[in-house]
Amino acid sequence: MQCQKRRVSSEGLKKLRKSGLNLWLKKARDRHGNKYSYDTVEQTFETQKRPSVKITCKKHKRSFFVIPHNHLRFKSGGCEACDYDITHQNSINREREKFFTFFTKHLADRLVIRSEFKGMTKPLNFYCKIHQEISSHKPTFLINSNNFGCNLCASSSVL
Ligand SMILES: [Zn+2]
Ligand SMILES: [Zn+2]
Repeated sequence: MQCQKRRVSSEGLKKLRKSGLNLWLKKARDRHGNKYSYDTVEQTFETQKRPSVKITCKKHKRSFFVIPHNHLRFKSGGCEACDYDITHQNSINREREKFFTFFTKHLADRLVIRSEFKGMTKPLNFYCKIHQEISSHKPTFLINSNNFGCNLCASSSVL
């Protein structure tokens, strides 16, 4: 007995592929906005599951191959550089939280943070409300040294 295969004309297949592609493109743009470019996907897209398609990351100016379905699943879209950024940003966020807790408790009555926190070892600018001076310190230095974060505050406390 022969299994009856559903026959789809090549024209029908093309239509299926096209509607799958359009649906996927819509989902990809909903998920990732304008971050990636899909110029070459049109020629190679078959289904969500295979084969991998070539996508270009606009931010990192690099191309990568990814299974279409995974491009929707991953926050990084499958771009290794985006993935690195996301992981890196998560660890900065944790460090920022830790430092801001310390800062609020020990320094916020005199100082105001005047630049963007980029990590424990990246200098931050602090504005002293008493002396109206800005000085730059690494967050890790302030935590570990009990520093005043302002040289004038430090010297007036010695007096
Ligand atoms: Zn990227
Ligand atoms: Zn001061």
